[in-house]
Amino acid sequence: MTIPDDIINDAAIIGAGPIGLELHAALKAAGASVRHLEAGAIGHTFSWWAPRTKFFSSPDRIAICGIPLAVSGQDKATGDEYVRYLVNVARQLGLNVETFRAVTGIRKSDDHFEVDVTRSAEGVGGLESMPRMSRANPADAILARNVILTVGNMHAPRRLDVEGEDLPHVSHYLGDPQKYFGRRVVIVGGKNSAVEAAIRLHRVGARVTIAYRQETFDAERIKYWLLPELEWLIEKGRIGFEPSCTVERIGDDQIVLARGGEAFERDADFVLLLTGYVQDQSLFDQLGLDRIDPESTNRPAYDHATMQTSVPGVYVAGTACGGSQQRARVFIENSHLHVDRICRAITGKGVPWPIDPEMQKLTDKHEER
Ligand SMILES: Cc1cc2nc3c(=O)[nH]c(=O)nc-3n(C[C@H](O)[C@H](O)[C@H](O)COP(=O)(O)OP(=O)(O)OC[C@H]3O[C@@H](n4cnc5c(N)ncnc54)[C@H](O)[C@@H]3O)c2cc1C
Repeated sequence: MTIPDDIINDAAIIGAGPIGLELHAALKAAGASVRHLEAGAIGHTFSWWAPRTKFFSSPDRIAICGIPLAVSGQDKATGDEYVRYLVNVARQLGLNVETFRAVTGIRKSDDHFEVDVTRSAEGVGGLESMPRMSRANPADAILARNVILTVGNMHAPRRLDVEGEDLPHVSHYLGDPQKYFGRRVVIVGGKNSAVEAAIRLHRVGARVTIAYRQETFDAERIKYWLLPELEWLIEKGRIGFEPSCTVERIGDDQIVLARGGEAFERDADFVLLLTGYVQDQSLFDQLGLDRIDPESTNRPAYDHATMQTSVPGVYVAGTACGGSQQRARVFIENSHLHVDRICRAITGKGVPWPIDPEMQKLTDKHEER
């Protein structure tokens, strides 16, 4: 059966974080027909950050579509401010994002793709790591000549796989720091999330210990304004520090750690395992995308000029390119160029807003690896 041309869209974009939105705006401006599916709300990833968590990137680097991001106090944006900004950009530019629609399958069919879409109650990532979805109805499949995966890469916690990890007082997410007042909290991890959580919990009156597998924190990888404060609080004994240790198991009131083969306990009302996140790669697997670094990031291979993956017509952009990053290398700021490349590859036109040459340099740098 021949499908009329006007039923097949030029592109289906999957995921409405900042990079998915920027792509939508660019393709729309270039005259392409676009369907844009998002499993949750616009900017879902920022909705599960602890309240009032700030970006480390400055506002100009995370602004999209050439629309300034003005932040109160000329400060760095919080996650909540940024979601508001993203929604406003979508409204201002008339981007029709189909929210609460998850993509569960993608198939190649002749000269186009069939994208299975289902209703979903949550975005992908965060406390509801497995979003609640209805069953896909094949009649709802969307047809598109190109598929762009802007699905992000923080979809599920990096689990330690230790006894007690699923106890109710154990979490991989900080949540609202205020609730920990007066409680003994052991934080496991030693990167930005763990360090920031330790300081914020101390400030709300929690009794905090941070347990890390390394001997010291890596100054290259921690926000420069956090580390001196944490080191001072540890030195003064206001935050406990257990270096060079691993987690053996978690019990109802304590965590069992081990250092140099010796196990020891620390009392804990709450345990926060802030050890990073991994990517849901099921769509990459279904499409049979070639991968790089299969033992760790397992990130999709792509052509640096166009962002096209090993499957013609399938593109990847934003942090989705980074795979399951142990060390974050792909951010919003070094992904703006992805948008221009894909827009040129699909429509022959670049983005209609200026691209800061500094951002271009950032992209080149992360791709040198
Ligand atoms: C505490 C914290 C601080 C951070 N600070 C910074 C910072 O300062 N600067 C920075 O650049 N980054 C920062 N990040 C990372 C930041 O969250 C990402 O850089 C950013 O979200 C990437 O944007 P994106 O558009 O590539 O993907 P995302 O924003 O993750 O968007 C992906 C979207 O795809 C949707 N999705 C996934 N699968 C499907 C599917 N199958 N169907 C439909 N929709 C789907 C998801 O629901 C999600 O909304 C931080 C992260 C954390 C946790």
